[in-house]
Amino acid sequence: MASYDYDLFTIGAGSGGVAASRRAASHGARVAICEGSKVGGTCVIRGCVPKKLLMYGGQFRDAFEDAVGYGWDATVPDFDWPKLLAAKDREIDRLNHIYIGMLEKAGVTLIEGFGRLVDRHTVEVAGRRYTARTILIATGGHPVGPNLPGFEHAISSNEALDLKRLPSGMVIIGGGYIAVEFACIFNALGVDITMMIRSGDLLNGFDDDIRQALAVEMRKRGITIRTGVRLDRLEKLDDGYCVVTRDGERFETELVFAATGRVPNTRNLGLEEVGVEQDDRGGVKVDSWSRTNIDNIYSVGDVTNRVALTPVAIAEGRAFVETMYNDNPMEVDYSNIPTAVFSSPPIGTVGLSEAQARQICGEIDIYKSGFRPMKNTLSGRDERTLMKLVVDRRSDRVMGAHMLGPDAPEIVQGLAIAMNCGATKRQFDRTIGLHPSAAEEFVTLRDKVPDPVRSQAAE
Ligand code: NDP
Repeated sequence: MASYDYDLFTIGAGSGGVAASRRAASHGARVAICEGSKVGGTCVIRGCVPKKLLMYGGQFRDAFEDAVGYGWDATVPDFDWPKLLAAKDREIDRLNHIYIGMLEKAGVTLIEGFGRLVDRHTVEVAGRRYTARTILIATGGHPVGPNLPGFEHAISSNEALDLKRLPSGMVIIGGGYIAVEFACIFNALGVDITMMIRSGDLLNGFDDDIRQALAVEMRKRGITIRTGVRLDRLEKLDDGYCVVTRDGERFETELVFAATGRVPNTRNLGLEEVGVEQDDRGGVKVDSWSRTNIDNIYSVGDVTNRVALTPVAIAEGRAFVETMYNDNPMEVDYSNIPTAVFSSPPIGTVGLSEAQARQICGEIDIYKSGFRPMKNTLSGRDERTLMKLVVDRRSDRVMGAHMLGPDAPEIVQGLAIAMNCGATKRQFDRTIGLHPSAAEEFVTLRDKVPDPVRSQAAE
């Protein structure tokens, strides 16, 4: 039998790669992992974690303002951006060391440098070659800007997390997760934000009521959202930039941030040389076991173009390890994945949107509640919460739960468990509310929204 340096060699030490490597080692596999940047990957180093720390930084503005209604003699104090950045960097360094420590403790060999496949059992890192029975590609993705003249001058989320100083104004291109979250963060920190989106609403794919309600709340906060914008080019000026649209409109600003999506990190990986198939968007093509067309090469996380979320990458890594090293074949269930957008206010969502449910289930019932959160009564803040349940009329199963409002991500995580257990609307109704909370609305929604299909038929 052929002998290899390792049982498993993982390329990329982000969420998926680290989770899989540690677990494989815990089942007795000899594991090595290589990383060309910082251990921790997008989520820890330049994504979810630093973004959320900056979001917390911005939220203090609301807290200072709201405090006045509660008797505090508060004025919004000065804000020190370099101080927040330095604190954020210290925390990211701490987490990076924790990740390195976790790999060491698990007995995983960490090799510094970018990995490249040489053949189906060999990876080259920094000029050295390592052999392994199984190879796992977990290299993640990176942001891409519009493929238009001048957009090489636009920053991406990588640079947005490390701006030396805050600009007075910023144009954000795109209306997805990253665009919305950073628009809210920088708006809270005092930057004048204009979002330019090519479609009619933010957050394509989310429930329409939630998308529209979020746009209302963001506009109330002073964020300009320009819809239906067709970009032509970006021009660099002496003291900023000019976004030029196809209609010839010119929009000058200090900084342009392109949040127009991410693509898989598959370049220079040796995929073509070894014959690993890719999809039409450049991702590593895998089956439901995360296996590529080469039967000892697997791949998990954003590089596979499935669902680009940290917990999904971790679940894929775990399923791969259970199957390969624990004699417990496991595929990932991609239904009912809860997700959040850390906007102001935030969104939490799980399951089908109303539009998706109409297509998939046919007859559905919609329950909705819009209200002013109790905290906003004394603070006077003009911001409303929206909650919505999408129910399959025949089975009574809750197919979608959506919320825009404070704590939405924390609330929706729990609803995802109920939905994965197949909870029906009747079971939601039987649950006693936790009072006084916003979350209790999800178990007290009684009135159906009039069915547009039935109303039309009655006319
Ligand atoms: P998204 O795919 O979510 O959004 C991209 C946005 O850019 C869309 O509004 C899209 O418009 C627009 N766009 C794309 N290409 C162009 C173009 N050439 N010109 C103008 N506009 C364009 O990508 P993100 O970068 O925001 O996020 C990437 C992924 O990262 C997300 O899908 C998500 O999986 C993950 N993520 C998750 C977070 C979370 O869980 N909170 C936070 C951040 C990221 P249109 O809709 O019209 O196509």
